[in-house]
Amino acid sequence: MKFDEFNLDEKLLEALSYMGFENASPIQEQAIPQILAGRDLIACAQTGTGKTAAFILPVLNKLAQQKSKGINTLVLCPTRELAIQIEQQIQGFAYFTGASSIAIYGGDDGSSWNEQKASLSEGIDIVVATPGKLIAHINMGYVNFKDIQHLILDEADRMLDMGFINDILKIISTMPKEKQSLFFSATMQPKIREFSNKILRDPFQISISISKPAAGVIQEAYLTYDNQKTRLIDALIHGKDQFESIIVFSSTKIKVNDIVNGLKRKGYSVHGISSDLEQKERENVLAQFRAKRVRILVATDVLSRGIDIKDINLVINYDVPNEAQDYVHRVGRTARASTTGVAITLINPDDMYKFHRIEQLIESIIPKLPLPADLGEGPEWDTRPKKKEFNGGGGKKPFRRR
Ligand code: AMP
Repeated sequence: MKFDEFNLDEKLLEALSYMGFENASPIQEQAIPQILAGRDLIACAQTGTGKTAAFILPVLNKLAQQKSKGINTLVLCPTRELAIQIEQQIQGFAYFTGASSIAIYGGDDGSSWNEQKASLSEGIDIVVATPGKLIAHINMGYVNFKDIQHLILDEADRMLDMGFINDILKIISTMPKEKQSLFFSATMQPKIREFSNKILRDPFQISISISKPAAGVIQEAYLTYDNQKTRLIDALIHGKDQFESIIVFSSTKIKVNDIVNGLKRKGYSVHGISSDLEQKERENVLAQFRAKRVRILVATDVLSRGIDIKDINLVINYDVPNEAQDYVHRVGRTARASTTGVAITLINPDDMYKFHRIEQLIESIIPKLPLPADLGEGPEWDTRPKKKEFNGGGGKKPFRRR
């Protein structure tokens, strides 16, 4: 379905075409007409499905048709990164309609407090906020939500995991009862259903499921500190001839070189491949790997999607990918064409919560195996979100287009 079939405002269509959006994703196709019609919504969908545009476009459409007073829409989300990302998308879509927006999140330097205070008391079309920071403003007594028409909860399950439930309920208690509520969550455990029942009225339901790893893959994990990882890989593959072709995945291209050098020092034939290499060099590296002249290839996620190499016996996730879909893609490099393969993930303490979420999304618990004795103790399994998730930690500054 194309965006011009939704009967959206011309100015929004112009922004969409400018941003290169042509066809609606499945969640957009299902959600946009329902939201335009005023229904509450509960959607099970994770990042990468296009859910942000699914909830923002109908809101901007209404704003383009009818000037709002006060604060029209509140988007609550768990982290500063997500708040920034959502607000950037709003700025892009609203480029021609002129709707105003602000992101409010913890961990900033406080210099924008007065701007935030003015927006929250005098009004702005859309506020995107993390619950903790918004509560800090509410407690000061000037936040005015009496004109709110749309409440959107994004990544609701993560907000509950982070202990934001009471903050969210308190925020909602300051709003009028008559409003449209949209609820997005990557997973739908009973506690999420229970919570959504408190907020939503006869919601339209959408479930966008993610693909899961093929049945032939043996998936395992180790809980390790970063400084144990290279020795662990060595212990896993040393003298194991059945692992003839191995891919090691890294979430960042900066780490690729370190991993390559660490494994070279252990005596392995290994090459790194990332978007830093010229196309010709990449092809050369891949050709050597395919011909089995190189045993280990170290790659980033960007490359994991495109590479079609058969007969990979072992995938090692040097770290936990940011998205469940990337995990599925990485693991999918092995056991292709109904052969069996092994996928091993190395999980440091910072990645445990992320891995726990991936397990929920793919609906299976991956066994956590004991480290070989000579590596020493590894960390304990702890699935609580780390403190730094609350404030994010080094997110990009939002760009302003106007
Ligand atoms: P989200 O799931 O909302 O985080 O979106 C994932 C990414 O897909 C974002 O970078 C969006 O800009 C992009 N995106 C979402 N919907 C579309 C679409 N219909 N066409 C092209 N890109 C899209």
